[in-house]
Amino acid sequence: MRIAVIIKDRCQPKRCFMECVKYCPKMRMGTETITFDEKGFPVISEELCAGCGICVHKCPFAAIKIINLAEELKTDLVHQFGQNGFRLYRLPAPKEGLVTGILGENGIGKTTALSILTNNLVPNFGEWEKGVERPRVIEHFSGTELRDYFEKLYDGKIRTSLKPQYVDKIPKVTKGTAIELLQKIATPERIKALLDDFGFESQQLEKNIGSLSGGELQRLAIMASVLKDAEAYFFDEPSSYLDIYQRMKMAKIIRELAKQKIVVVVEHDLAVLDYLADNVHLLYGSEGAYGVVVPPKAVRVAINTYLEGYLKEENIRVRDYPIEFFEHPPPETPVQEIVLEFTPLRKTYDNFTLKTEGGTIRKGEVIGMVGANATGKTTFVKMLAGVEKPDEGCITRSVKVSYKPQYINPEENYTVRQIFAETLKDIMFTNFYKEEIEHPLKINPLYDKNVTELSGGELQRTAIALCLAQPAEIYLLDEPSAYLDSNQRMIAAKTIKRVISKTGMTGMVVDHDIYFIDLVADRMIVFDGVPGKLGKTTEILSMRDGMNAFLKSVNITFRRDETTKRPRVNKPDSAKDREQKEAGEYYYA
Ligand code: ADP
Ligand code: SF4
Ligand code: SF4
Repeated sequence: MRIAVIIKDRCQPKRCFMECVKYCPKMRMGTETITFDEKGFPVISEELCAGCGICVHKCPFAAIKIINLAEELKTDLVHQFGQNGFRLYRLPAPKEGLVTGILGENGIGKTTALSILTNNLVPNFGEWEKGVERPRVIEHFSGTELRDYFEKLYDGKIRTSLKPQYVDKIPKVTKGTAIELLQKIATPERIKALLDDFGFESQQLEKNIGSLSGGELQRLAIMASVLKDAEAYFFDEPSSYLDIYQRMKMAKIIRELAKQKIVVVVEHDLAVLDYLADNVHLLYGSEGAYGVVVPPKAVRVAINTYLEGYLKEENIRVRDYPIEFFEHPPPETPVQEIVLEFTPLRKTYDNFTLKTEGGTIRKGEVIGMVGANATGKTTFVKMLAGVEKPDEGCITRSVKVSYKPQYINPEENYTVRQIFAETLKDIMFTNFYKEEIEHPLKINPLYDKNVTELSGGELQRTAIALCLAQPAEIYLLDEPSAYLDSNQRMIAAKTIKRVISKTGMTGMVVDHDIYFIDLVADRMIVFDGVPGKLGKTTEILSMRDGMNAFLKSVNITFRRDETTKRPRVNKPDSAKDREQKEAGEYYYA
């Protein structure tokens, strides 16, 4: 079965000289394979298309995908967004008493599946012109577990609660204080109990929603979803912006909820997903073109399969290479040239003090910075950059820092190309930029998009690329994993590491995804203290000492998966957990 997809937010018929039509051999032979819709977008006839792929290569904006799919998927089509539109095959089957995870790349239908399961979208089974009525949906799924689900959903016997993906948008649609929002949903007693579970201070709730940080918005959104009276709960990326302490608390709250309810979670932090979910549906497909939901597997098997990159039952390769973890910490690299040295530093603002240990930063290394939010990571790097002066201590020299902030706010009305051209100038045309940054981070298809219409993951890739491409001595990336899918996280980690090692500059990466830190860092600094009041750092530690210091403060240990050697969170107080804590080995056994 062949499908042709036109990605409309890339297709620009007024700017491309209609290359797809011009070079299509069937059109040249007089067969009307490509016509145009009323808005001027091309329409490819899947019956007439010979599948040669010439249009795919000729389109200057990468707006066409021609894909051959297994014939048996034909009957599994659940939803299609218009002619030549995105197609979703099969659905996840949520189950009471279990946390059902969903794992797959961005743009392959996870949110679409959640919209269908929350009754925000009625699936059309490919009948995109007229759509179908809800009773047809129930009938369609007869003989499967989903029949019962849809029957109850459409009868109002299953009410749903959804934590949306982009919490940054909440202030745009909701006004007032955080507590006002929660009081509309639940009683003060229930709110109080959940606040305690989350470690959220009640004065934070007095704040206006517009002034909450990303991490606060995320927790507020999760609390609001949990408090809502419903039978089925859906969480779309609940860990973005949360530090590891908060991620573990979130996981506990969601697991508790699942004891009596239906719970479905989309999550890209694999260590968190591993801890959170019981069963996981993998999704494979092609971004913006199609997605296929695979039957559920136990969480361990699902994540291993995902890292392996090959779905055996489906005979589908989702990646050309497996992602590997190492049981042992990386060997200490020979000491490189020193970039700068600093003595213990101290910096005090009105209500916040940061105290650091002294250290030496070397060329070609990536330093992972981990710890709770609001413990002074950015303040630390600002001092190294000479932007902030320490009140005590000294630094041998100040260095130029290229900075990717945690929150990226694309307010200007420019295309990605305009911003890159203005910031990077000739650098954009160098082979190094093209091969080491633009290509792996897949920036090419984004150049002609307006920055305000990029998705969260696209914006993140753009910001990482822009940061790494600028001339500097230290590259500081604050939470580069946010909104990236697991695959993109692995690619981003590799890209950062390679650029730093090839340029001989230094990387400093703040992130809360343990797998990401494991893949990207050579050494670590652990931040500790009381968020918003006092920050303290360790010295710059080896990976072994750093992971031990960090995980000890979070009070979790990791064991190794037998097959893939990837780290897995131990159940608190299990035999392994106690044994490792006693030995002081929290990460590398
Ligand atoms: P994911 O959640 O896995 O990132 P989505 O379900 O959001 O993926 O989207 C999958 C694809 O479906 C998108 O790339 C987009 O092209 C398409 N899509 C989503 N919503 C619509 C819509 N309302 N109309 C047309 N296409 C849509
Ligand atoms: Fe132009 Fe590509 Fe759109 Fe065809 S698909 S009209 S070549 S942008
Ligand atoms: Fe024409 Fe080939 Fe494109 Fe089909 S794949 S529309 S036949 S150019």
